[in-house]
Amino acid sequence: MSAPKPLQNCGKCGLCLMACPVYKVLKEEQASPRARLQLIKAFENKTLQSSPLLKELISKCLMCGSCALACPSGINHYEKFMDMRQKMVKDLGETPAIKSLIYLLSKESRIRRGAGMAKLGQKLTPAWLANKHCMGNIPLNQLPGISRIPLRKKMTTAIPARGAKKGSLVYFTGCATNYIYKDTGLSMISVLTRLGYDLIIPQDQTCCAIPLLFHGARDQALENMVTNITALGAHECDGILVDCTTCGAALKDEYPALIRKLMAEGSTKGTPQASWETLAVQAKKIADKTTDILSFISAHKQDLVFDKATPNLGKVAYHAPCHSRNSFNTWPLVQALLKELPFIDYTPTPEEAECCGGGGTFFYEHPKTAKKIMDKKILHIKEMKPRYLLTDCPVCRINLTGNLDTGKTDQPGKIKTGKIKTGKIKTGKTYEYKDIQVLHPITLIYNALKKDAWKKDAWKNDH
Ligand code: SF4
Ligand code: SF4
Repeated sequence: MSAPKPLQNCGKCGLCLMACPVYKVLKEEQASPRARLQLIKAFENKTLQSSPLLKELISKCLMCGSCALACPSGINHYEKFMDMRQKMVKDLGETPAIKSLIYLLSKESRIRRGAGMAKLGQKLTPAWLANKHCMGNIPLNQLPGISRIPLRKKMTTAIPARGAKKGSLVYFTGCATNYIYKDTGLSMISVLTRLGYDLIIPQDQTCCAIPLLFHGARDQALENMVTNITALGAHECDGILVDCTTCGAALKDEYPALIRKLMAEGSTKGTPQASWETLAVQAKKIADKTTDILSFISAHKQDLVFDKATPNLGKVAYHAPCHSRNSFNTWPLVQALLKELPFIDYTPTPEEAECCGGGGTFFYEHPKTAKKIMDKKILHIKEMKPRYLLTDCPVCRINLTGNLDTGKTDQPGKIKTGKIKTGKIKTGKTYEYKDIQVLHPITLIYNALKKDAWKKDAWKNDH
């Protein structure tokens, strides 16, 4: 038997430790990226067996990618963690809640039914119960409502450009915009069609598969990938737009990478090689065309016509989702864009691009750690007191909105939605704090565009 191959060339320098949001709050070596790599190495070398503790340590990671960015040895932590998660699930299975999530997300018809049931559940849950219980670190009464009708069901597949046509775009909506944050979707449609683009919203798209990959459900993830590659590839277009950088990272990085990996591993046996090669070509084509909305807006900002009467909206902060910093690299572009918007005072908070602790389902699986990570964020936001907090990831939006209202941070005072309030800090100093509304930046941009430009939109009443 040949000697086991070393899995990585970690020099144990520790640079990844201070980049890791989990390590920073727990300060335990076993919660560090460096330790996770060593655990994976020991597991691969068969000096460590699968166990619930090992699975727990591997899962206590936000999959944020910050460690890989900091690592001078160029280790691809993301891929190693993803593979290890898959092995842990194979050996030990999943919890019933995560199993149900995987079941729901692996077919669009199930997501639709699940959203319907969640809506009914929200309606039937008595207020006293919702006030008392949490989903992970988010109180039930702070969770966003599920849309009555999903965005894609409400919109026709093809929406024509307003005015002179410049091209056509396909819109990958993602699940959260489709079922929860319709304001983001409608703003996307408004802005892009007004910029002169025909918009195609494929009805047969489904979950981008990132949550499935995070939970080691590679077969189900592959099914979703094939569905999306078929749905998106069916339309000739100049670009594929996403409103979430996590979905964008799936289309741009994960789809081509997984297909290449399966082909290299020989895991494609039983299916003609030619069909895998075709799939790989289609995935690459989709990856090359995928852009996130804020990069697109940055490149077309000269064409936006803002209403001169838009009042200054005051201080605005931004939370950069992990994928926008570590995979998509849009963070500097977004900062530059926000600085240029004439109707806001964009003020970066300290640690603007630090993870909020959402991490897909991390906030649900590790609520105490997620809360510690979030508390640091809340502290900075409360100190700055912006009117709007912008973010281009729906999970971050859920997590931030859910926690901004709890008031359970180290700081005295409570940020509430609703009217402007005056609070008294326990030190006796009185200060004024305003509601903070968490939104996708595209919604603020939409709201500031010239109003008469929107009158003829047939779907405007839905907004
Ligand atoms: S991906 Fe993020 S949370 Fe996970 S180990 Fe790396 S830095 Fe830490
Ligand atoms: S930064 Fe890279 S080389 Fe240094 S300890 Fe972390 S994983 Fe190892």
